[in-house]
Parts: sequence; structure tokens; C-alpha cells
Amino acid sequence: MVAAGEVVSAEAVWVLPDEPVPVRLMNTVWADRHAVHDALRTRQDLAGWVAATGLTAGPVTDGDVEAFRRLRDALRRLAALLTDDPRPAAASPLQDLARAVETVNHAASAGPTNPRLRLRASQLQRDDTPGGPGAALATVASQAVVLLTDATSAPLSACHAPGCVLYFVKDHPRRGWCSTACGNRVRAARHYQRRRFERTTSAATGSRAAPTDPTPR
Ligand SMILES: [Zn+2]
Repeated sequence: MVAAGEVVSAEAVWVLPDEPVPVRLMNTVWADRHAVHDALRTRQDLAGWVAATGLTAGPVTDGDVEAFRRLRDALRRLAALLTDDPRPAAASPLQDLARAVETVNHAASAGPTNPRLRLRASQLQRDDTPGGPGAALATVASQAVVLLTDATSAPLSACHAPGCVLYFVKDHPRRGWCSTACGNRVRAARHYQRRRFERTTSAATGSRAAPTDPTPR
């Protein structure tokens, strides 16, 4: 059992690194066979996540952590709406849809997300100063608005492998799961169910298992 507050490994934290950044923020809530985990709890977590996603934020405060967590919960709520997500373990603590929308819009206005102009001694310059945590938050929120509404892009999906709480963009029609690990777990679970069904049926009919059946564990 993983205790609350235990430091999770970097490998576990940055799940599905190829997903768009808003989905990566949603997936800072992840699960293993023991529990659902939150990879975004501390300033260090947030600084690490921002760096891993290629955003820049500079030093972050506890308030920034709260703001990113609020946006994360709002995005998970809206993702659940979009994907008809029935997974109880994946449910966002923020359930109110209007508040979720408001949270995204508030985050989107938290800082500049576009290149800015600067006037210096009558010269026009491009201001490439990293925008800080507010700008990073606004960037994620703005990208999320596009992701959640663009009907032409690949659809957002919930992964229905047993115990999984992740979301992914279904970039290929045959992609059924968030990862090969989840796909393998589903196949193993189906295989186990089939074997159990076969055993139950053969026990009920009094017949023996097929001679080719490998010795049960
Ligand atoms: Zn999965």
C-alpha cells in the first residue's frame, strides 16, 4: 500500500508524455494497483511538471500549486463530460460544470500567452521574457479550450483498462487504451475471465478440462 504523501518515482509521475499538455495536466492524477495518486502536490512537483512539459514558469509558490490543481480538477471534470466517463475512481473533486468552465476561463486570463511587444528608445522589440507561473497556467488553459472544443482533432478518451484513471487523445482509430501496459492488462484480464468461465462450465457439466490444458497454477 502506498501511503499518502509518499514520493512517487519520476517515471510514474510523468505518465503518457506524448499527450498534449492539458491532458498531461489531467494525468497528474494516476493510479497503480494500490491506489489513486496525485503527482501535483508540492512546489517541487509543479516545478518538475512545468519543466517536463517544456513550459517555463520560474519560481513557483504554493498559490501556483493550488491554481494548477484547480485547473487540473476542472479539466478532469470537463474531460469526464466529453467522454461520458463512468469511472468512479477518476471522478474530479470539482463536480460543478459551470464552476469548471469558470475555472478554465479564469486560468486562461492568468497571464500573457502570446508574444509581446516592447518599446525601447523608439525601437520595437519582441519581449521573450518567460512569463512566469501565471503565463504557464494560461497557456495550459488556452490549449485546453482548443482541445475540448475542436471537433476536427482526434477525440479525447478515457482509458477503461481496469483501475486506470488516465485520459488520452485517440490519435489512431484502433487505439483502445492509454498505453500498451493498459492494453496488456486488459488482455490478461480477459484471458483470466475466459479461463475461469471455461473451468466453471466444465465443473458444472462434470466434464474434465481438455487434456491439452496446461496444469493450473
Ligand atoms: Zn490506461
